[in-house]
Amino acid sequence: MGEYQCEHCAFRFESSRAPHVCPHCGERGKVRPTPSASEILDEIEWMEKEPSREERRARREEQ
Ligand SMILES: [Zn+2]
Repeated sequence: MGEYQCEHCAFRFESSRAPHVCPHCGERGKVRPTPSASEILDEIEWMEKEPSREERRARREEQ
């Protein structure tokens, strides 16, 4: 089993092999193996440029 994350919707899940399609949003070619913790932080900062204001607020409340 390995951990994977969709670069499109940031959905994380475990799978025995790399899926080609995200099980959450159905985006093709966006699923990547989960990177190391430091790389995850970089990706979160990168993704925060994209989400709407409401999504950013929800993310802040989770922390
Ligand atoms: Zn997805």
